[in-house]
Amino acid sequence: MSVDDRGELVIVATPIGNLGDVSQRAREVLATSQLIACEDSRHSGRLVKHLGIDGAHYVVVNEHTEADATRRIVEAIAAGQRVALITDAGTPAISDPGAVVVRGVIDAGLAVTSVPGPAAFVTALVLSGLPTTRFVFEGFIPRSGTDRAERLASIARDERTTIIYEAPHRIVRTLTDLSATCGGDRRVAVARELTKMHEEVRRGTLAEVASHFAATEPLGEFVVVIDGAPPSAPVDEATITGAIDDALAAGMSVRDAADTVSSMLGVSRRIAYDVALARRGPSGTSK
Ligand code: SAM
Repeated sequence: MSVDDRGELVIVATPIGNLGDVSQRAREVLATSQLIACEDSRHSGRLVKHLGIDGAHYVVVNEHTEADATRRIVEAIAAGQRVALITDAGTPAISDPGAVVVRGVIDAGLAVTSVPGPAAFVTALVLSGLPTTRFVFEGFIPRSGTDRAERLASIARDERTTIIYEAPHRIVRTLTDLSATCGGDRRVAVARELTKMHEEVRRGTLAEVASHFAATEPLGEFVVVIDGAPPSAPVDEATITGAIDDALAAGMSVRDAADTVSSMLGVSRRIAYDVALARRGPSGTSK
């Protein structure tokens, strides 16, 4: 088999707004692929046409078709074809379909490679001015209920910078909820319409930015970048000992007391266990 006969899946990033961001390699791969896997063939057809590529064949990959499309893509690659995977914008499989296809091709023992490029969350993060050393990408957060409340609470506690995607009609509510859980003075950057004519990054506190968008109609696509929580103060020994004593006095075993105190105070399980063992004493009676 020559190199040309080896099929492969190529994950190709496409622009998040500005067509000038299509890379040379993205163009070449799309022009030389026998099949283009995309979310919407009409949308992607416009990009492909803009690149001067004629006669492309498409397979639609979305949440309803992903399993069947994966089978078709795996067959095509096994038969020696090159399949390009794109989505409507940015990097496939990032808050977009694609992960199932990639998994299927890997499981079939076939080749996967990528043409990296735009992703809205990285662009917003680097524009935010907030710390970039450690960050967490949450995608779209749950819209309601306990899931939403828990996710907001976990974002509020996280010491890393958090990045979320949000729809324009939900941005005010999400900023208001973040302000309530993280505190109105937490820093935030809200990036809108990245790489497009009306690109804007609004930086400030959650309270300030929430009230700005409450007063100015939020238009376009949004990424919210939230500063991490201030580092929590280290827990001192007396606090750990006191909590362990309370747990043991309540009748817990050494193991359960260690587990409870470890998750309650955020200290290591090993430390909590050693303290619990020492407080319980060799005879099994609490000190
Ligand atoms: N795969 C894409 C990526 O790599 O970023 C994300 C797709 S997700 C369905 C779409 C969301 O990404 C939008 O709702 C918005 O939150 C964010 N987004 C995409 N393009 C954007 C842009 N130009 N400016 C700001 N946010 C954008």
